[in-house]
Amino acid sequence: MKFISTRGDAPSLNFEEVVLAGLAADGGLYVPETLPKFSKDEIASWSGLSYQELAFNIISPFVDGEIADADLKTIIAKAYQTFRHGAIAPLVQTGRNEWVLELFQGPTLAFKDFALQFLGHLLDYILDKRQQKVAVLGATSGDTGSAAIEGCRRCENIDIFILHPHNRVSEVQRRQMTTVLADNVVNVALEGNFDDCQNMVKASFRDQSFLPEGRQLVAVNSINWARIMAQIVYYFYSALSLGGPHKKVSFSVPTGNFGDIYAGYLAMQMGLPIEQLIIATNQNDILHRCISDNDHSRKSLSQSLAPSMDIMVSSNFERLLFDLYGRDGTEIKRLMNEFESGAMVLSDQALTDARKVFSSYRLDDQGMLSTIQQVFESTGYVLDPHTAIGVAAARENRKNDSTPLVCLATAHPAKFPEAVMKAEGLLEPDLPVHMQDLFSREERCVTLSNDLTAVHQFINQRLS
Ligand SMILES: *Cc1c(COP(=O)(O)O)cnc(C)c1O
Repeated sequence: MKFISTRGDAPSLNFEEVVLAGLAADGGLYVPETLPKFSKDEIASWSGLSYQELAFNIISPFVDGEIADADLKTIIAKAYQTFRHGAIAPLVQTGRNEWVLELFQGPTLAFKDFALQFLGHLLDYILDKRQQKVAVLGATSGDTGSAAIEGCRRCENIDIFILHPHNRVSEVQRRQMTTVLADNVVNVALEGNFDDCQNMVKASFRDQSFLPEGRQLVAVNSINWARIMAQIVYYFYSALSLGGPHKKVSFSVPTGNFGDIYAGYLAMQMGLPIEQLIIATNQNDILHRCISDNDHSRKSLSQSLAPSMDIMVSSNFERLLFDLYGRDGTEIKRLMNEFESGAMVLSDQALTDARKVFSSYRLDDQGMLSTIQQVFESTGYVLDPHTAIGVAAARENRKNDSTPLVCLATAHPAKFPEAVMKAEGLLEPDLPVHMQDLFSREERCVTLSNDLTAVHQFINQRLS
């Protein structure tokens, strides 16, 4: 299978190359040239498969023989072995025909483990084959960093450097990163904000000459195709549990970078009957403004109690735009340039087509807290702040009561205790057993000034 850039002006890559690549050379994102399609009968025949068996069926057409079937099965088995629940992604009912899909049973309590546990093992396998070592470099405002570190800590061919803004991530989030004491894991607290961290990572990818001979950087943010691909699986898995593909299912997805919900869109394009895909945002609502008012303009970032969705620009949206504009890379380049100067306006056709699949909803902190409270009062179930926004969006946007509605639970409530306790009547959520000693574990982290040369010197010394 070939992967092409959304801006139409970069070489196409095969699967292994696309896993190692970050942005395309033309600034675009890689997508498959054609998507695998499954018939209803084929999907129906998968009912009752384990999560791992289903993952193999969905992922192998993308890998397209570049990795032997038996090896791909081993990579998948290792990836989901660390999950604490036998169902991997269990469903919990929270209302009439309303379900929460618990995507937080992985090691770091957020859905990002689905992609990053898989990516770590996949990278290690590909690098072994190529006899190559790489450095993973990423910036995090919270969840991505710990999930990437857990995904890579046992990989012999990877050194991982994660930058977080000094004193600006929650204590649970910081400790999940800094208490991993493996030799190939380096946490850097940067004296700056999240944007400074991200700018430093971007500059490092552009010019990698600071690395020792033979090393390259690999990206683990959601522009990496393998992350998106791994997330397609749980859409099929949950739909199959709720009567799909004979019955349509709808999904509500707490959205930041548009990675998770884009995977749902792909599931639909690959043949899964989906009725609605609901984009749920907090006050950083560029996607909601775009779908509801064709207002895709930059606004300043606002800090919310659902910090993993505090994102000004959703990078994976470009992948959807590519389809909405008939896969015309020149058009996407023009649109993205327009957006560089502040705002982009979608064509009537593109907006109409987007609205056939997506609806959207925006919820502020107050609305989120009352949703946590309501769901707790009616079911005893505790939602995390991100998931609560998804549940509220589902209830507001649902078109059809007889279609099962799945709300993706993107994090465990114990990951955001300060926010959960702000909801009336809620107590501090307990950490799962495997993490109960988190606050007494030893931490390891270096603090560096917000200076590109200093960070590069530090990374170079660690790798030499
Ligand atoms: C990353 C994250 C999101 C947003 O996911 P995207 O793929 O960026 O849309 C939502 N909730 C939680 C808890 C997250 O960690």
